[in-house]
Amino acid sequence: MADPAKTPAPRRSTAEKAAAKKAAAKRGGTRSPAAGRSGAAAKRRHPRGAPGRARTVAERLAREYPGSARDLCALRHDDPFQLLAATILSAQCTDEMVNKVTPAVFARYPTPADLAAANPVELEDLVHSTGFFRSKAKNLIGMATALEERHAGEVPTELSDLVKLPGVGRKTGNVVRSVAFGLPGLPVDTHVGRLAILLGLTDETDPVKAELALGDLVPEDERGAFSLRMILHGRAVCDARRPRCDVCLLADVCPSAFRV
Ligand code: SF4
Repeated sequence: MADPAKTPAPRRSTAEKAAAKKAAAKRGGTRSPAAGRSGAAAKRRHPRGAPGRARTVAERLAREYPGSARDLCALRHDDPFQLLAATILSAQCTDEMVNKVTPAVFARYPTPADLAAANPVELEDLVHSTGFFRSKAKNLIGMATALEERHAGEVPTELSDLVKLPGVGRKTGNVVRSVAFGLPGLPVDTHVGRLAILLGLTDETDPVKAELALGDLVPEDERGAFSLRMILHGRAVCDARRPRCDVCLLADVCPSAFRV
């Protein structure tokens, strides 16, 4: 998945945060179900621990961003091989840009065997606009070669096999597992890691540790969609530079609301 919103937004001053909080309170709170309740009543209804908070967060995000992991994935693809290639290209690049580039890549190299035999310069040219084009082209050819040599031209389903492919880390492997195969997989990108800490679901800053911690809180069959919903919410509302707590549906359960 692509990294956070690239458009910088100025940090809000303390006065702006206070004004937003006051405005939300005046309206009866946020869009959350707790809006309008007294503080004591709200506190009684709100989960205090990470497991309960994770359930509430997952339920609300599922209502706000409905659909399966496959529905929520913005990278266009027709099969696991195409998703794997698109996810490799999405590093440090927007999903929109990847979607502009991949039709020509998939048309020119429809199978792992075709991609494994690609002319590196020609492939670099095709993926140039996604950035880091030399290393991405090298990883794509290496990935396709590994699929041919080790997996009979098929994308493996086990994370331990996926992460051995060139250009594939746990994040990419978990995207492929959850989106292409419908298997448990919780990709942790910068949005997911940041929101998990803000929401008090974990204090792990290391992506692998955060993935394991979140995996303890989210049921296996919901992990992929949960991750994608956190990414969507990070882009739409909880912007890294300017979180919009005054309109956030999680504000009443978020320990960081109006504090960031
Ligand atoms: S309440 Fe604010 S900090 Fe918490 S998730 Fe929502 S936007 Fe982010």
